[in-house]
Amino acid sequence: MGMASRFPDSFKKFSCINCGKCCTLTVKPTNEDIRKIEMLGYDRKRFLRNGNLAKVNGACCFLEKRDGGYFCSIHEMKPKVCRQYPFTNLKNDNLFSCPALRI
Ligand code: SF4
Ligand code: SF4
Repeated sequence: MGMASRFPDSFKKFSCINCGKCCTLTVKPTNEDIRKIEMLGYDRKRFLRNGNLAKVNGACCFLEKRDGGYFCSIHEMKPKVCRQYPFTNLKNDNLFSCPALRI
């Protein structure tokens, strides 16, 4: 079964509305995640703070606002936990902080 199997059926209809809320949560990248981000030219001394992705104004330093929504500026190389969200309880302090899961 896929990783969503332990979640209610309604979650399968999940469709991200690009609200950016999950990018205010704490993200601890793995070593592999960090290496991938560095491949894009970023310096870990700048994008990490105490082992977590650094925040700017309360949101991940890689979060970008455009066209009325929020987007990840390292989308192709974002940490695994970001790719899995909201079907993970690792990224966050609160899984149910994703509003798209309540629709
Ligand atoms: S890396 Fe991208 S998806 Fe992950 S928290 Fe930062 S902006 Fe959001
Ligand atoms: S909180 Fe949910 S709807 Fe909002 S950006 Fe994150 S995954 Fe998408």
